[in-house]
Amino acid sequence: MKCYCVVNFREPLQEMNQPTPTPQGTQVLLKVRAAGVCHSDIHLWEGGYDLGQGRTLSLKDRGVSLPLTMGHETVGAVVAAGPEASGLSDSRNYLVYPWIGCGKCPSCVSGMENHCSAPACLGVHRAGGYADHIVVPHPKYLIDIGDLDPAQIAPYACSGLTTYSALKKIGADIYREHPVVIFGAGGLGLMSLTLIKALGGAGAIVVDIDPAKRQAALDAGALAAIDGAAPDAAQQIIKAAGGKPVQAAIDLVGAPATTSLAFDFLTKGGKLIIVGLFGGASSWPIALIPMKAMSIIGSYVGNLTELQELMELVRTGKVPPMPVHRHALAEADSVLSALRAGKVVGRAVLTVD
Ligand SMILES: [Zn+2]
Ligand SMILES: [Zn+2]
Repeated sequence: MKCYCVVNFREPLQEMNQPTPTPQGTQVLLKVRAAGVCHSDIHLWEGGYDLGQGRTLSLKDRGVSLPLTMGHETVGAVVAAGPEASGLSDSRNYLVYPWIGCGKCPSCVSGMENHCSAPACLGVHRAGGYADHIVVPHPKYLIDIGDLDPAQIAPYACSGLTTYSALKKIGADIYREHPVVIFGAGGLGLMSLTLIKALGGAGAIVVDIDPAKRQAALDAGALAAIDGAAPDAAQQIIKAAGGKPVQAAIDLVGAPATTSLAFDFLTKGGKLIIVGLFGGASSWPIALIPMKAMSIIGSYVGNLTELQELMELVRTGKVPPMPVHRHALAEADSVLSALRAGKVVGRAVLTVD
């Protein structure tokens, strides 16, 4: 099998030929049909996250070993299964849940594998979808997508799931009644807009410093699109919310500037859900966190049940197809570079015929 791998951090992905695995036990081998190229792959490719104040989180220390086949947004067709893998139909297309844990700890047992502290995520700790084949450890991680387009569906495994889980943390009682502020109008931001609409939400005010991305957000139905770098950005956001208190924000950027702006416009009892991994350190006025009774909640992808719920929603047809740019698998490195340079609007997906 062919795969496109990180051989050294911060160096171009290399095409490698590896033996196609024979699935054992409960394992399933799929032929990759579509593999989304996600912004978090850039952090993985860089080998770490900026924690601010000169510190970095090294992924090497967190169990990421090279060479690595990235790709955690994968749709594939079953080609073979181990003797203990059942319930799958040959040649059907399945969305792969990649956020797999150890299977034994309290988080995993309660169905929160995305909170496992010994993760074995596909495309991070184990080989992912930047390849013509992928091995999934158990059929339970596969969701039948029927006749839906693999390239359209692949990004739901990360960007879709991440935004769905963040919205659930806000709660339907809030997002149905009040506009939600979304920081970042990239792939995740556009996904949030469509999900809010599909879930019967009151809409979103999008904040982005890039005018082209603000326009993309408006085209996708944002109530307003605000330049976060404007000196009166907080006032503009409150005005766009109809002058009513702003209850909730999802920060898909996760930078000092975005988290501090959210702090300024959120009302008492407000919720800030931080998803983005841009990095750096924040200097919130700590006394104001209790005085404003604010909730600052981190959200990391989502669990398997949430991905199943999301796919139920997608099957209803209420979630319009997202704008995806299709590329050949062999373009994995150039697509990753384009994403790194901020040149991708919407989602980029590698496809295999
Ligand atoms: Zn991702
Ligand atoms: Zn676990």
